[in-house]
This record gives sequence, C-alpha cells and structure tokens, in this order.
Amino acid sequence: MKVRTVLALSLSIFAATTHAEKIALVNGTLIDPGKSQDQVIGGAAVLVDGDRISGICNPDTPCSVAGHKIIDCKGKFILPGYIDTHVHFFQSGGLFTRPDIVDLTKVRPYGDEIAGIKKNLPDTFARYLRSGITSVVDVGGPFWNFEVRKIANSTAKAPRLAVAGPLISSVSRPQLDLGDPPIVKIDNPEQAREFVRKLAEQKPDLVKIWYIVNDEHPVDSFRPIVRATAEESHARKIRVAVHATELETARAAVEEGADVLVHSVIDKEVDDAFVKLLKDRHTILCPTLVVFERYGRTFANKLNLTPEEKAWGNPEVIATLDVTKIPQEQLPERIRTALANPDAALARIKKTYDVALKNLKTLEDAGVTIAAGTDAGNIGTIHGPALFREFQLMKEAGLTPMQILQCATANAAKLFGGETGAHTGKIDKNDFADLVILNSNPLNDIAHASDIDAVVKNGVLCPADQLAAVSH
Ligand SMILES: [Zn+2]
Repeated sequence: MKVRTVLALSLSIFAATTHAEKIALVNGTLIDPGKSQDQVIGGAAVLVDGDRISGICNPDTPCSVAGHKIIDCKGKFILPGYIDTHVHFFQSGGLFTRPDIVDLTKVRPYGDEIAGIKKNLPDTFARYLRSGITSVVDVGGPFWNFEVRKIANSTAKAPRLAVAGPLISSVSRPQLDLGDPPIVKIDNPEQAREFVRKLAEQKPDLVKIWYIVNDEHPVDSFRPIVRATAEESHARKIRVAVHATELETARAAVEEGADVLVHSVIDKEVDDAFVKLLKDRHTILCPTLVVFERYGRTFANKLNLTPEEKAWGNPEVIATLDVTKIPQEQLPERIRTALANPDAALARIKKTYDVALKNLKTLEDAGVTIAAGTDAGNIGTIHGPALFREFQLMKEAGLTPMQILQCATANAAKLFGGETGAHTGKIDKNDFADLVILNSNPLNDIAHASDIDAVVKNGVLCPADQLAAVSH
C-alpha cells in the first residue's frame, strides 16, 4: 500500500494542472536565496492556495496538507521562479531585429520582422516559462510595449511583466522608426520632462534612458537631460533605469538620479568612489554579460549557443543567426569585417569580459545589489534560455551559486514595484506562487539551475516537458 502511494505521488508531478488549486509540494529541499538565514530547508513542504503561497513547513513544524493535491518533490529542489530583469520584446533575438546595427532590410524588411515578433509573442512568453523564468522586465521598446505587458499579465503561460516604454536617448535611431519608435532622441531637459509626462500616462514600471556617449555626444552634454528625466520620473514615483556602459557615464547617471544601471561598466575597472556611490544610493546593477559576446560572435560566425538555448530557444529565430546563409553581396560591412577576421572579434569580447567580470565580482563583494539580466532580444541573445549563459558568466566572474540565484530571484524582484515587487523572488506566505522545481541541486553546480522538472506560475503547476511544446 505504502509503495503504491509513493508511486502515485511521484507520478502526480507529471500531471498538469490547468488552473490554480490547493497544492502541497512535499519532501523537497527548499532553497530561498534571498533569505538571510535558513536559505536551505530539507524535507520542506510548500503549500499553494490559488495564486499564492499559503504556508511553508519543515520537519520540525509539519503542517496539514489535508485538502491539497500532493506533489512529491523527494530528491527535488524548490526555488522562487527566476527573473530576467533585462529583455526587449520588440526584438526577436534574430539577425534582422536591429537594422540600425546591421541593415539587412533588403533580405527581410523591418516591418515584416516586427509583425513576426508581435505574432510570436505567446510563443516567446512560453519559452520564458520553460526556462523557469516567471517574471521579466522589458527595459525599453515602442509604446506597444504597454500592450505587451497587458497581454503577458493576462496569459497563463507567460511571465509576469514590468515594462519601460520608449527610451529617452542621446542619439537617434531612425532605422527603427515605423511610426512608434523604441528610441526617441531628446534634445533638452524640457523635452525630457514632457516625454516623461507622456510616458506616465501609460503607468510605466520604469523610465529608461539610453545614455550613449561618443565624440559628438560627450558625457556632460546629456547630463541635464538625465537629471530632468529623473526628477520628473521620481516626482511620479517611477524609477529610472539607465544604459551607461562606460565608468564616467555610469557615474554621471547615478549622480543625476539613476535607480538602476542596466549593463556592466565595460571600459575600465570600477573605482572605490563608484562602488560607494552605488551603495549609498542603493543603485541596482544588472550586468547583462551574455549580450556582450553575442553580437560579435554572431557576426563572426562563432556563435556559442548553449544546449538550453538550442533546445528551448525559438528555432526560426536561431536559424536566422547563421550569417553564412546571407548572400555575400547583401552582407553589411560590419558582418563582412567580422567574418574576415573572427579572431579579432573574439579578442574584443575577451577584453570586454576581462573588465566586466572583474567589475561584477568587485560590486558583488562590496554588497551592491546585482540583478540578473540578459538583454535578450538583441541579436544572438535568445529569449528565455539566455539566462543560463548569463549564469555561466556570473560563475566565471567568481560568484557562488547562491549569489547567482539571489541575483536572479530576490534581488531581481526589486526591479518590480508594488504588489509584485513585494511578493515575488522569494518564498514566504502570501507571496505569488511562482516557483521552479529542479531535479538536481543548483548549489552544487549552477549548471543544475536548468535541470527543470516543473514550473509553477501563479499557482499553476506546469511540468517542464509540457512547456516545451509551444503551439504557433
Ligand atoms: Zn537592453
């Protein structure tokens, strides 16, 4: 009798539930990386009622599971669902998604690319869940991003979504303008304030600034615009996320009010004053390590997609990344150059990582809040499973598995405001029941973070194999 019960329980994890009900995940090891103590509890039970966690028990304080559907998690590991804090749903991850960087519009018109992206959104959402990612922050895109948020937040097989609207930028990108541009050049503080007011009508989760610096656009010329944007946003209780990849740009951004830096500093090692600034201001930094290799590797035909990306990424998107399929005469200069000298492209990536990985370790050791993020949607950075390449790179930087998991759960949840921010990224009573259940221990090896048995989103349990088949 006992044997039969155990068998029935262990099989029950494979049965999909189609709506939230009362479930009890029993006998598993609970890993809650954001906790200051008891981060790991063996023999735990996590109770789910509807879309919320209704109780957490351990062998010392057992709880009643009466009335719950029992899911036996013996030998498994229960974590908060992962959060990717830097993606762009207006970009596919394919080769035709950034005509401002490589113009291949003669091969695939940009209008077709955007139409395909919109049509594919349910598929893209499901690939996040398949990767154990139950919440995502879209840090910038056209105004239709707000529609994407609405769709995601009312779709079962989709991550929770926070969004920024169009980027307030120091430079223009007319190639991306189909009437609702993702990047808007702002020339003075008053324009910035006006644009923030327009954005505020859509209730953005963040306001995003694209602080691009070059000879024509030095750091100081855009500073007043960053300040005005931050003031106007903060007055409306909206936080500001800034793309700033050089040390002096990042420093200026934080001094002028940035709440989040959405990339690593890649031009030089961070100094003590910068570290102190981030700590004093409680700035969150999202490293996006994976994106720094993917443009260069794609163009040089040296793409290193992980097994997870190959398995769970969109195959049609991945197929576009083979630059050798593009007729020679259609190849933009940038790809031609990379193909002619792939070693130079790889050397540039290495140089970037030498700085970025070291900076990540410095900031982590200093106690700066690091939130995991990928910049998925950019060329070669695959929506969903790119996060596991990000984990590998964070490990190379010297972060422990627990630190990496904390970056992808409790820290990442800080990007969300309100009810979602208060109740995701951790496993406490009344939190949203967003969980990932693993077959092997991620604390032994962060590679196990992708050994996913099942995902719980909003209280609904989805076995991983049923999330793999995505209908079009
Ligand atoms: Zn980005």
